[in-house]
Amino acid sequence: MITVEQAERLIQAQVQDFGTELIPFESALGRSLAEDITADRDLPPFNRVTMDGIAIAYSTIEQGITSFKIKATQAAGDQPINIDHADECIEIMTGAALPDSADTVIRYEDIEIKGSKATLLASDIKKGQNLHLKGVDKKKNEVVASAGQLITPAIISLATSVGKVELLVKKLPRVVIVSSGDELVDVDEKPSLTQIRKSNSYTIKAVLRQYGLEGDLLHIPDDPKITKEKIAHCLDNYDVILMTGGISMGKFDYIPKALEEMQVKTLFHKVHQRPGKPFWFGKHDSGVLVFAFPGNPVATFMCLHRYFLPWLNASQGLSDKQPVYAVSDRDFTFMPALQYFLQVKLSFSLQGQILATPIEGNGSGDFANLADTDAFMELPMERDEFKQGEAFRIWPFNQLMI
Ligand code: AMP
Ligand code: MG
Repeated sequence: MITVEQAERLIQAQVQDFGTELIPFESALGRSLAEDITADRDLPPFNRVTMDGIAIAYSTIEQGITSFKIKATQAAGDQPINIDHADECIEIMTGAALPDSADTVIRYEDIEIKGSKATLLASDIKKGQNLHLKGVDKKKNEVVASAGQLITPAIISLATSVGKVELLVKKLPRVVIVSSGDELVDVDEKPSLTQIRKSNSYTIKAVLRQYGLEGDLLHIPDDPKITKEKIAHCLDNYDVILMTGGISMGKFDYIPKALEEMQVKTLFHKVHQRPGKPFWFGKHDSGVLVFAFPGNPVATFMCLHRYFLPWLNASQGLSDKQPVYAVSDRDFTFMPALQYFLQVKLSFSLQGQILATPIEGNGSGDFANLADTDAFMELPMERDEFKQGEAFRIWPFNQLMI
């Protein structure tokens, strides 16, 4: 049996590059950007007005003029309208392009308009105020987002603002999610008293979808012959096989043997951890990787976040995520010589600390507890006592929370 760190190292040694592809920006959220995006013109592209009000030439105020004749009104998108005389102004809206003859914008709150005259109410007008000048954010051809960045809503904002209809992204592996077990029925079936719905498959699918990855689903009954046939099909059609169930010591746990017989080499079987001790990882000569997680829902969920997602991130060329630590808000004891992944609820202190409240639940079968928690806290194997106030690494699984 190996340690969590050893398992992590063996998995990270199998990072693969699946190439790149061009995809529409609408489908790019969560993907890994594989090109630098550059500005197709200055950002902003013109001297942009940032307040509704009037545009004037500041020199007029220096001459002591405080009342302006409104020459015209200019909306965002209109061609700039120039001032012909010093005591004129243009009524102008946020987002409009400042005319060359003006250099300052005074907001409505600081003027009084009567008929076609605008009179200053405020005296602290500064030259150049209420403007977002051409090119101050980025110059034409300057990089606005870099290869290796995760495509977030902010990257979509930049890409679309510079007219990128398609984005070059890292290709995702073709993934199949394989459930196994004769006790399993589908979600829309009515289980008998002794049957279970195959929720793990949909849990994995949902987690992968956060990365823009659509995993296919497949089910294997507890039958050695069919197990081998289905594994052969997966090896032919996918880059990664994610399995749940059938890898423990049970009489019907045929998967490790079937994988070996199909020339998938065991890279490890069993890790000093709870949950997820029977975790199996292997590789076929063709390069196909097999992550076989124990069927217990919490074990599958933990192994997916602790091992598969970091592998996926690395394979996608995404810059390493910084480890996240949280401070335990109470003492905790865990005696077995295993690395324990404790389920915790997160909260945030006013000092900016992440606080973790352990919510133990009833072991790796108790997935109801997952809905009340936000992360796994990885507790060092060599210790039994963990004190309130100590910080430990966490593996968050509520993407929108942290
Ligand atoms: P196994 O690893 O096959 O021994 O399964 C361990 C436990 O997890 C058993 O209680 C199974 O019924 C359950 N289990 C296995 N696969 C799934 C699945 N896809 N969805 C939900 N529970 C599962
Ligand atoms: Mg089983």
